[in-house]
Amino acid sequence: MTTRATRLADGSWRLDGRKIWISRADSADFAIVMAVTDREAGRKQGISAFLVDRDTPGISIVGRIPMIGGTTTFEVAYDDVRLPAGALLGAEGAGFAPMQARLAARRLEVAAWSIGAAERGLAMMVAHARDRRTFGQFLADRQSVQWWIADAVSRIHSTKLLAYDIARRIDAGEDVRVLVSAAKVAGPELAAEVIDHAMQAFGAMGMAKEMPLHLLAAQVRLMRIYDGPSEVHRWVVARAALAG
Ligand SMILES: Cc1cc2nc3c(=O)[nH]c(=O)nc-3n(C[C@H](O)[C@H](O)[C@H](O)COP(=O)(O)OP(=O)(O)OC[C@H]3O[C@@H](n4cnc5c(N)ncnc54)[C@H](O)[C@@H]3O)c2cc1C
Repeated sequence: MTTRATRLADGSWRLDGRKIWISRADSADFAIVMAVTDREAGRKQGISAFLVDRDTPGISIVGRIPMIGGTTTFEVAYDDVRLPAGALLGAEGAGFAPMQARLAARRLEVAAWSIGAAERGLAMMVAHARDRRTFGQFLADRQSVQWWIADAVSRIHSTKLLAYDIARRIDAGEDVRVLVSAAKVAGPELAAEVIDHAMQAFGAMGMAKEMPLHLLAAQVRLMRIYDGPSEVHRWVVARAALAG
């Protein structure tokens, strides 16, 4: 993290830095900006959170990056941005832990969105398999298609149970960081596979832009990167298991 906030003599703050890949930077009214306030203290005690109005002088969008799936991200620059003392959220140096907690909820949302996308792909695949005949047989009677459907049904169900269990644990105040990483891997990877099978089952129609499948595929592809790539979340899960 290179963005840093410096406390000035009168208690106000000065913010300088840049951050790329920011979603909705063009439409947000305010942002929570994480900045280093004590480089020596490390991430546990050296990062603070600030509530920053979008139109504060010194904030500019310096890059607009079209992404797959119809999404756009932005690069935001902070040049000598002056913030009142009250812009600090919580205690100085204690911004990391609340952000981690927020990210847990957000990653569960990603898992839930993926389950919805997988359900849509499955529903489309089932409808098409009942309707399309090739070489004298319905696709519904082909074992390859049946296996895609069977795997989708069972994986959607198990991923949904995982998501509900994590939601219940969050409500009970449990630390769900490891489980949420598992769901952040499982959801988008499930959706990617189910949607890919649906595209295959539709043949050329599955490649047509008039169908929603290519858009769903691109959107779930993004989910394997944002809020942490699958490899990093697998690392979190493995590290916890290996630590005993
Ligand atoms: C659509 C979209 C929206 C986004 N919105 C925001 C936003 O609003 N705010 C924000 O702050 N960020 C946002 N991001 C950024 C996103 O969180 C990062 O892109 C993501 O965390 C990965 O970081 P990186 O791009 O620097 O990849 P890197 O850290 O360079 O990683 C590249 C690849 O290396 C591998 N890798 C990295 N680390 C490890 C590891 N420890 N173990 C094994 N393999 C590893 C993985 O395969 C990974 O995909 C967004 C990204 C996208 C695509």
